[in-house]
Formats: sequence, structure tokens, C-alpha cells
Amino acid sequence: MTLSVRFWGVRGSIACCGPRTARYGGNTSSLEVRCGSRLLMFDAGTGIRYLGKTLEGAGPIDADLYFTHTHYDHVCGLPFFGPLFRSQNRFRLWAGHLGDGLTLRRVLSEFMIAPLFPVPPDVFRATMEYRDFAPGDTLAAGADVVLRTAPLNHPDGAVGYRVEYGDRSVCYVTDTEHVPGAPDKNVLGLIAGADLVVYDCMYTDEEYNDYVGWGHSTWQEGLRLCKAAGARRLAVFHHDPEHDDALLEDIEAKVAAALPGSLVAREGLVIEL
Ligand SMILES: [Zn+2]
Ligand SMILES: [Zn+2]
Repeated sequence: MTLSVRFWGVRGSIACCGPRTARYGGNTSSLEVRCGSRLLMFDAGTGIRYLGKTLEGAGPIDADLYFTHTHYDHVCGLPFFGPLFRSQNRFRLWAGHLGDGLTLRRVLSEFMIAPLFPVPPDVFRATMEYRDFAPGDTLAAGADVVLRTAPLNHPDGAVGYRVEYGDRSVCYVTDTEHVPGAPDKNVLGLIAGADLVVYDCMYTDEEYNDYVGWGHSTWQEGLRLCKAAGARRLAVFHHDPEHDDALLEDIEAKVAAALPGSLVAREGLVIEL
């Protein structure tokens, strides 16, 4: 019963590949979670294209893709995820942040639309199922896998996830903004006792003052939440495009000292829990 996480994209807002970000990576949000042989994917930022490459030549794929929300940096890699173009594959796409009668299918159709994009989602040849849920729901994610959800604090909404498999758990909590001095009860409940918390650490506490209301949090708040909730390790995630490798290395030393085992997520990193 092995639970593993692989990071394919760790950057927030917009891809920023180049020499300043070569060590941690410049692609936007994409996670691969394996629960035994079961594949769960989270978000479809630019990193998901590289995940798709590793799945080429594999047998038929039956997997789930869960969106935190549908801001561009979390969906723009979807049309470039190669396995969607193979008829032998089956994917379920999930979102829980949409209200007001919106559906994930409609939102993606209006994202892949001329003249913004040359082809609609109908070009996908895999069997596609679009599933909408309410934040707080517990979702079916295959035998022995429990997937809990909670609402996050973000413009247009977002959903945090907790994957439980065997006696292990990993939480994916991005994009979300904290209120200084008032830990988010929804987040605390979701991450209680988790082995690993991947958290929106777009800013530092010092930078945050200039970005109140933008929908993001800080690595210091990530540490405070993990400690308050008894979570074991923090993975700093959704890095600001302006945060270069030197700054992230500095943050990594600080989080590792404050909560041993904590780290800054980088492309290619695999964590087995
Ligand atoms: Zn984002
Ligand atoms: Zn967002």
C-alpha cells in the first residue's frame, strides 16, 4: 500500500521557465498521486504535458483528474495532455468550486473555444466524464482510496483535497488566502494529522501585505497551519514567478529547520509516504 506524490508543475500564476528557475522549475500546477496502481492527477497546469509523456505507450489508462479550480494556470495544460487523444483511455474530470449553475464541462468548453483556442474539448478521443461536486463532499476515488474535500478562500472559489490510502495521507491545498491571526478552520480540518501538506506558499509574510485579497498565502502560514493541525511535513508550493531558485533555497532551509522533513516542491520531486 504505497502512496506517492510526484510534482510536474509547482509554479503559480504563469509559467516562467528559464535559468532563474531551473532548479525548482517554471511549470504551473500539476501533481501525480499514486495509490498503489491507481492514478490520481491534480490540476492541469503546464506541467501536465510532461506527465502525459510518461504515460505514452502504457496500456489503457483509467484515471481521475481533480481540479482545485479553473483559473488559467490550473487548466492551460489540459489540451496538451496527450493521453486525452487516445480512444483506449478513460478519464473522469472533477471540480467542486463552480456554483451558479456552471459546470466543469461548460467552463472547459468556453476555455477551448475559437478564437482563443483552435479546437474544442470534443477533439479528445478518450472517454471523458465531467463530474461536479460540492466542496466538503467525500469523493469516490477507487478501492481503498478516500478523497476528502474542503472549500478554500480564493477569488471564484477553489477546493482543497485530502487523499487517504492505507494509513497514509497527503493534502493538496492551493490556491487559498489566509486571514492573519485566524487560522482557516476548513484547512485545519482537512489537514489534521496528515503526513504531507502541499500548500499555497505564493508569498512570504512580508510580501503578503502588498497582496491582500489576491487569494494566496505564505510559507509561514503553511508552517503555522501544519503545526496547529499536527501535520507532519509541509511542501511549499505555487511559487511566485518572481521567486528565483536562490530565494526558494533560502525558504527551504527555513521550513526544514522549523518542521523537519518539510521542503520546497520542485519539478520531478517524488515523495513516497
Ligand atoms: Zn494558481
Ligand atoms: Zn487561482
